[in-house]
Amino acid sequence: MAQEQVSVLIVGAGGAGLSLALLLRQQGIASLLIERRTDVSWYPRARTLNFRTMEVFRSLGLDEQVRAAGAPISRMFRKHTLAASDQEELLNPTTLVEHLEEISPYPLGRYCPQSRLEPLLRGEAERQGVDVRYGTELVSFTQDETGVTALLRDRATSNISRVKAAYLIAADGAHSRIREALGISTWGVGELPESQIFVYFRANWGELIQGYEADAILTSNESGRGMFLITDQDRGMFAITYNPMRGESAQDYPIERCQKLIRAALGKPEIDVEIVDLADWRPIQRVAERFQEGRVFLVGDAAHTMPPYLGLGVNTAIQSAQNMAWKLAAVLKRQATSQLLTTYQTERHPVGTLVAEQSMTGPAAVLFEKEMRGNAQLHLKDPLPILYPIVGYRYRSAAILSEETATASPNEFELLESLELHGLPGSRVPHVWIERQGQRMSTLDLFDGRFVLLTGAGGTAWNKAAATIASRLGIELAAYCFGPEADLLTLDTTWEARLGISSEGAMLLRPDSFVAWRSTSLSANPLETLERVVAHILGKNKTPSYHA
Ligand SMILES: Cc1cc2nc3c(=O)[nH]c(=O)nc-3n(C[C@H](O)[C@H](O)[C@H](O)COP(=O)(O)OP(=O)(O)OC[C@H]3O[C@@H](n4cnc5c(N)ncnc54)[C@H](O)[C@@H]3O)c2cc1C
Repeated sequence: MAQEQVSVLIVGAGGAGLSLALLLRQQGIASLLIERRTDVSWYPRARTLNFRTMEVFRSLGLDEQVRAAGAPISRMFRKHTLAASDQEELLNPTTLVEHLEEISPYPLGRYCPQSRLEPLLRGEAERQGVDVRYGTELVSFTQDETGVTALLRDRATSNISRVKAAYLIAADGAHSRIREALGISTWGVGELPESQIFVYFRANWGELIQGYEADAILTSNESGRGMFLITDQDRGMFAITYNPMRGESAQDYPIERCQKLIRAALGKPEIDVEIVDLADWRPIQRVAERFQEGRVFLVGDAAHTMPPYLGLGVNTAIQSAQNMAWKLAAVLKRQATSQLLTTYQTERHPVGTLVAEQSMTGPAAVLFEKEMRGNAQLHLKDPLPILYPIVGYRYRSAAILSEETATASPNEFELLESLELHGLPGSRVPHVWIERQGQRMSTLDLFDGRFVLLTGAGGTAWNKAAATIASRLGIELAAYCFGPEADLLTLDTTWEARLGISSEGAMLLRPDSFVAWRSTSLSANPLETLERVVAHILGKNKTPSYHA
């Protein structure tokens, strides 16, 4: 059998796999992305992209497309039937967080369901030349020190082909077979005691959803109780909750009964409802014990699955993909040693765990406590403000160089004391308004896949050193200087305090917009200092060298 060679084989074209393929493409790495389904899914599932995810898409130059595909906000209403005029607003995300404008240029969330996001990402990946193969599934794989050998099946022809990849990415979702094949155990409660049937249907319901196109509608009437999620003018999903404790099961909901329930919930019996698919669903809390096994990495739900109550699943999946992409690219381009790849686990495992824990807080916790009392795994945490699982943490790993590295355990993960990010190494860069070539933008707009160095007017020596280091270490490093005569004008007079550097200082930012290192002052030898810092981040120098 002929063998195809690829750098990276990504299994699964959900939010994680598609984003990773694009992020790798941006780094100049070609990947093969395979997906078992024959086409993108039109099932809405995740609906809201949070600001951190929009920042990732911004760095890919896709934020405008994503914005255009969605709507500003998704609310939740309760109505007797969809046709009824009475309504009660249950959730309006704009009221959840105050002062977000100090943290990100984006609002808390932007409505863009997976049914619109995935086609957009697929189209973009194909346009950019990513090898995307739908209708292709991973059958088996083996790995050794030279790479991963995988057998793929074309589902239309049943033909088996062999691929040799330097790395295999398991983006194969919550029930990851790759994770299972690797024998990686998981932490978490597993399936939660909430049972739902997702009914995907077609109906001419355009007039009923007018004004609610981005919303979720709970219907409260006895003969049609459930929740509508809208896909588009003639397609949607109706979620019906059933209770196994009362002896109910999914078999109690055949197509005819679902059809009847949806008609009653619509409140317009004359509308024809065609059932397209039924899925029995339970929310899951499950975090893989390891995200890496040799040359195989778990990304997205395969690594961290959580119930959807805080809307963090696909968001965390995409953010983990971003953490993985630049590291994998740096190793494949021989800019970094494979030590850099181990920091994917060090950094994202605590985040995945935090997000999975937090997704069990809030009103949902009451249900679980009642239903699952006695489950040893159920350690419900106190709820944190919603911003914490998104940006309220600080990585502590070998890919971060901070004042405290010498004393802190490299696996230590810290929640930030304050959500006003101050440029601490390991945290996401603070959002500061700046002006570049007459254009107002955020510090977050400086990211396009490269490392970024920020210096003040007194720190031009850092800036000069950056070009030399980039060519010596073979990396792409965009260096910017703040100042009236320099390339960046700060529109925020408190920028030094916001970033935690002085005018003579410097801040090195990773391609994922996290602070790698900063110096409050000019060092005696900026070239040597910066070179040692970058080499350390890339895993080439194991001795921490915060002050060179
Ligand atoms: C009802 C519902 C509502 C949700 N709401 C939200 C929300 O509001 N916000 C949010 O952030 N998240 C939400 N989520 C969670 C979100 O959908 C998931 O976190 C997200 O889809 C995970 O993306 P992924 O790419 O990791 O996995 P998936 O989207 O599951 O993609 C995995 C892909 O791998 C493919 N695959 C599996 N095995 C193979 C194989 N052997 N070969 C080839 N392909 C394979 C599958 O076909 C699948 O397409 C919700 C989920 C549900 C079910």
